[in-house]
Amino acid sequence: PPDVEGIGRATWTFLHTTAAYYPERPSPHQRANMLALLHALPVLYPCSHCAADLGAQMQGAPPDVSGRAGLSAWLCARHNEVNRKLGKEEFECAKVDERWKDGPED
Ligand code: FAD
Repeated sequence: PPDVEGIGRATWTFLHTTAAYYPERPSPHQRANMLALLHALPVLYPCSHCAADLGAQMQGAPPDVSGRAGLSAWLCARHNEVNRKLGKEEFECAKVDERWKDGPED
């Protein structure tokens, strides 16, 4: 069976990093591909109950692929819903760039 924790960490790393470097003003082609990538997850993610829950989340909160900031915020909110479900601490979404793009100030 897949390692649900390992694939989760790897997937969040990929998704948050991809959002962090997504253009401020994506082209229609970039938006369409980001939408396709996100909509593929509920179909293909290798943890079926995770995939089903994400699909349900996406019904109520369609992906915001309008630009970097909106996408990063949307993804942070989806990840926080999973954190809440698992009893993990919520992440402060104002800090997504520090975590996934810029690194900590020092
Ligand atoms: P992770 O949750 O993997 O987070 C990795 C890092 O991301 C954290 O260390 C933190 O620095 C950062 N981070 C945390 N929250 C946020 C946020 N909101 N925004 C930005 N960065 C953040 N596991 C299950 O057991 N059941 C499920 O139903 C389930 N559903 C999942 C659905 C999806 C779409 C994905 C990608 C994963 C899912 N997982 C699920 C796995 C779970 O979310 C975790 O990845 C796994 O439990 C490992 O957790 P972790 O504590 O190492 O940190």
